[in-house]
Formats: sequence, C-alpha cells, structure tokens
Amino acid sequence: MPVNYKSIWMLILISVWVSACGQQAVTKVNNKIVTEAAMDTTEIKKSDDEWRSLLSPVQFNILREKGTERPYTGEYDNFFNEGIYYCAACGSELFTSGTKYNSGCGWPAFYEPSVNKNILEKKDISHGMVRIEVMCARCGGHLGHVFNDGPKPTGLRYCINSGSLRFEPGKSKE
Ligand code: FE
Repeated sequence: MPVNYKSIWMLILISVWVSACGQQAVTKVNNKIVTEAAMDTTEIKKSDDEWRSLLSPVQFNILREKGTERPYTGEYDNFFNEGIYYCAACGSELFTSGTKYNSGCGWPAFYEPSVNKNILEKKDISHGMVRIEVMCARCGGHLGHVFNDGPKPTGLRYCINSGSLRFEPGKSKE
C-alpha cells in the first residue's frame, strides 16, 4: 500500500496546531491576564467525609464549618511575599500579593479578588452581626468576610483566613 506523505504531514500540522491552541488559552478579566485554569469555575461538590480526608482539621473547620482562625496567628497574616493565593480546598485562584496590604486586623487582607467570578459574596447575619461572607465560587468553601473600610482603589477589605488559602510564590499580576 503506497504511503501518502502529504496526508501524514497534514495530520501532523493539524495536531500541532490543535494542541498549541489548547495550551495557549489566555483571557483578560478586569485587565488582568488569567490562564484557563484560573478561570475554571466548574462547581465542585464533595461530602463532609471527602473534604475531611483532603483537608487538615484547621482547614476543614474554616472552609467547611465557617470557622475563624484566631487573629494574628494565621500563616499569611504578616506575610507579604510576591505570588498568588489559591483556595486550599479546590485550588481555584482567589487573590494576588499585589492587592494584599497590612490592615492590622490580624488576618490577611486584600483590596480585591484576583478574578471576581472566582469569589461568591453572601449576606451573613450570624453572631449578631450583619456582614458579607466571602466564599470560593468553585467549592463553596468559606474564606472570610468583606468590609467597606479598605484602601483605594476599591475601598474594600477582604478579610480572609490564612487557613483557607494556599500561597504559591511567583510574579503577581498587579
Ligand atoms: Fe475552593
């Protein structure tokens, strides 16, 4: 059977083109470049037992039981290295070091999320207060609360538990 080299070359070119397109998917959100992985907000649902097997007791208490770490004790409270903060439960990109500031409140504080649609905000009337709870949009994990006493340019303070975050060093997008 004769080998059709022209067809083989066409197939190779098409597969290279398809794989290159798949790997280069980059989008701009709020003028920041985000990767396709950072934008994957496919909802993740797991049972409490499954989360318990994946998270440390502290992470489980914060993310799944809406716990709060004691002020000034969290790993990222007094921490200002350059990099990106991901959800400790599902790995969704949440904040960047470029928007982190020292609020003095005892928890990591950011003036805006990295990708707005990766965060959910919901009214919280627990503990006799009216607050806005901040959650991971992908896994529903509790992160902390957002207040309107933050710095410019947003005036917001995302007060986030260190235990709900996983930091990776690198170049911040801000
Ligand atoms: Fe998450």
